[in-house]
Amino acid sequence: MEEGTGLGDDWVHWLLDAARARLGMDVAWVSLFTEGDQRITSAVGDLASMNVVEGMSAPLEGSYCVRVLSGQLPPVVTGATRDPRTRDLEVTADLNIGSYVGAPVRDADHRPVGMLCCVSRGPGTHLDAESARTVELLADLISDHLRSGSAAAARDLAARRERVRSFLVRGAVVTHLQPVVEMATGAVVGHEALSRFPDWKGPGPAGLFSEAAAVGLGVELEELAARAALEVARTLPADLTLAVNLSPEALTCDSVVQLLLEHCDCDLAVEITEHSRIDDYAAVLSATGRLRGSGIGVSVDDAGAGYASLRHILRLRPDVIKLDTGLVMGLHDDPARQAMTSAMVAFAGETGARLVAEGVEEEAERDALLARGVRYGQGYLFGRPRPAYDLVA
Ligand code: C2E
Ligand code: CA
Ligand code: CA
Repeated sequence: MEEGTGLGDDWVHWLLDAARARLGMDVAWVSLFTEGDQRITSAVGDLASMNVVEGMSAPLEGSYCVRVLSGQLPPVVTGATRDPRTRDLEVTADLNIGSYVGAPVRDADHRPVGMLCCVSRGPGTHLDAESARTVELLADLISDHLRSGSAAAARDLAARRERVRSFLVRGAVVTHLQPVVEMATGAVVGHEALSRFPDWKGPGPAGLFSEAAAVGLGVELEELAARAALEVARTLPADLTLAVNLSPEALTCDSVVQLLLEHCDCDLAVEITEHSRIDDYAAVLSATGRLRGSGIGVSVDDAGAGYASLRHILRLRPDVIKLDTGLVMGLHDDPARQAMTSAMVAFAGETGARLVAEGVEEEAERDALLARGVRYGQGYLFGRPRPAYDLVA
């Protein structure tokens, strides 16, 4: 059963409220079991007085739940602070438990995967077998609800995977190329390969890459895109560099590195396109080391877009740093962007990296970049991404 399906779930809250009201108790919650712990995914009532917070985790060991499930404790405890089976448990004091009624939440195979608990600070002399049956009934309803919720989530995930997979099986990617130019002369020095998925209805190619990553097919889709781009590389003039986008996950995948190495006779670079942190720099550095050893350059994309990209630059020591569109946009009017650009120029100079400004749309931006020592640029001013088959023809 999917963990967390209960959190913030109105129907489960409603059932918990029904349980609490029916039994006249302070608090009711559903917890779902994980490895050794239980997590309270939904809770209602006077939570603060019992030190309960929705989303909190607590160890299963020492809990009422495991004792009820193993039969050491009955499902109804009317005087927890006096009952020898509960009075010395830490949880009794920690949560101010005076009385308790619990029933398991079960998965489709009837295995307990969580617990519905009703708890009060005071004793519960009114609680009886009927109370236990009420909680059991509501726990069964919650079990059904969570099962149908997780079944629906599983179906949804399968449908999303299938949609991404359809791009993979059809190889439905078209490589576009956008020129990178020496801004002073306008001479084209290379291209960036940008993927297009003609029948993808979502937001931009980046949308499909993140959807693929979300359903566990990210690297497969990147490999497909890289394969298509590398086929284009074969058709380009030998003195023009082709930059291929890859996430750190794809870059640390052996088949992707192999694929690149098979094309190392072309003039290639990889652009590391990652906006979040890299968890395993050692693996990325080992991949970039192998690529560099075969003459494939390494670029860090979107520099200046956030802290992550600066960290990547320091750790990966790229051959090329691509200044993010956000830094270039309106550069000529903005002293802060100008200062940042100058700092990047100084840094690139000291580390021997080449700077490429992205998203250059206006002549004023180009001139401001040139004035600060940025030689290379890419953007609509110089050329939009166009289908490779157009360009090569
Ligand atoms: P990116 O690598 O930062 O690519 C640059 C984006 O800026 C491209 O968007 C490009 O079309 C757009 N662009 C170029 N010039 C200008 C300009 O002058 N103004 C503005 N406003 N935008 C400009 P696109 O093609 O939609 O790609 C978006 C992102 O999707 C890429 O960002 C990259 O992260 C990812 N992506 C695209 N193709 C691939 C691929 O084959 N593999 C991987 N891993 N990622 C890819
Ligand atoms: Ca890029
Ligand atoms: Ca970029």
